[in-house]
Amino acid sequence: MPAKQSITKLPPELFVEFCAYLTPSDLFILSKVCRKFYCYLSAPNSFSTQQIWKKSRLKFMTNDLMPPPNGMNEKCYVELLITERGCQICKINKKCKIYWEFGVRCCSKCFSEKTIMVESYVDYPRDLLEIMPFINKYGNMYYWKERLDFDCDQYTSFFHGYLSNLQSWLDVKKNKFDSIMKYAKAKQKKNEVKKISFSSDWQCPNIPYV
Ligand SMILES: [Zn+2]
Repeated sequence: MPAKQSITKLPPELFVEFCAYLTPSDLFILSKVCRKFYCYLSAPNSFSTQQIWKKSRLKFMTNDLMPPPNGMNEKCYVELLITERGCQICKINKKCKIYWEFGVRCCSKCFSEKTIMVESYVDYPRDLLEIMPFINKYGNMYYWKERLDFDCDQYTSFFHGYLSNLQSWLDVKKNKFDSIMKYAKAKQKKNEVKKISFSSDWQCPNIPYV
């Protein structure tokens, strides 16, 4: 039996065991081998799928053990954390940053194309803007434009329908907003601590005087 054929015939329980030895990057490569592996590794609601990603993350990405943000599954979380895969939007630029407020990893060019700086409350309702995740850059508020426009449409349809529905929709969004912004802040804090400890660990190499 050819080697490729035999590995794709692994029963699910052995597949899970086999994955326990793989890094998150290896898991991504494996998910592209065949449709069966893709399904095993991409089922958002499967407990064992999510456990595979979680175990790999905890074993191989030990510099950040924070769990994923509320509502994000393990696979999406791991995918975000692998910064060496580059920008998730243009898929070209390798230099990129994770924006936890938006749940996106992107380069600075895509960031400026995809976000909008809101200077006044003319174009968007104020109570909506107050509960939309944003990035504060030099005192300016940047929002993810597609999401802001989408939510603005929903807001308008609620506004012209039943206002009580609008209020409960805003309440749900406010809870999500609080949770996302709190998480993003915690990640930022963690990165700052990492940077400080890195710079204090760094020692000047012993270069002999000539
Ligand atoms: Zn990009």
